[in-house]
Amino acid sequence: MKHQNAALVCLSGGQDSTTCLFWAKKHFECVEAVCFIYGQKHSLETKIAEKIATDANVPFKLMDISLISQLDRNCSLTNSAIEMDKEKPGDTYPNTFVPGRNMVFLTFAAIWARSRGIFNLVTGVSEADYSGYPDCRDTFIRSLNVTLNLAMDEQFVIHTPLMNRDKSEVWQLADELGVFDLVRNETLTCNNGIPADGCGHCPACKLRREGLEKYLERKIRKNNEHQN
Ligand code: ZN
Repeated sequence: MKHQNAALVCLSGGQDSTTCLFWAKKHFECVEAVCFIYGQKHSLETKIAEKIATDANVPFKLMDISLISQLDRNCSLTNSAIEMDKEKPGDTYPNTFVPGRNMVFLTFAAIWARSRGIFNLVTGVSEADYSGYPDCRDTFIRSLNVTLNLAMDEQFVIHTPLMNRDKSEVWQLADELGVFDLVRNETLTCNNGIPADGCGHCPACKLRREGLEKYLERKIRKNNEHQN
């Protein structure tokens, strides 16, 4: 049976996917979550994702697709022997790029969702403010959406609520959804595997903090304008 008003969220336990989980809870009657083990160094991620889903009363599925990390050993998120790029190298992607990751995630998510009668998929990818990973771009998502529909003869819809939001706007969305503190204190975005405000110096922490500061400044300015 098809559930028109149901969605499956790809949840990693980070700021973006957690915000998407609560976005989905606002827009759909039934929400489920799927989290992937892809050979990441920090297994705490999946524990955090499970806790967030459980606390939000969302059925949680953990899927092991760690084969992906054995196929390409050049990624610093899955290979401990590789030091993480601090900056984006000139003409290529930083070694935090996991080739094919979002394609594989969304494909497995779609197969799982279909078996549950769910055809809305939600992912926290964004074109703004990131390292420009090709599998975070809108063109790719639209293309994969068509491919999934053709592959299974279904009408999936991939929702990307963060696609055009920079990090400060993702914080704003979390605040609008009433989960600002939850996202700030319970999620894990840090490349060094430290929850909440993280290590403070890795690229993911820097991006998260800069976005937070930008959002809070904007909020204070707005409040002041209101009072005057
Ligand atoms: Zn960090």
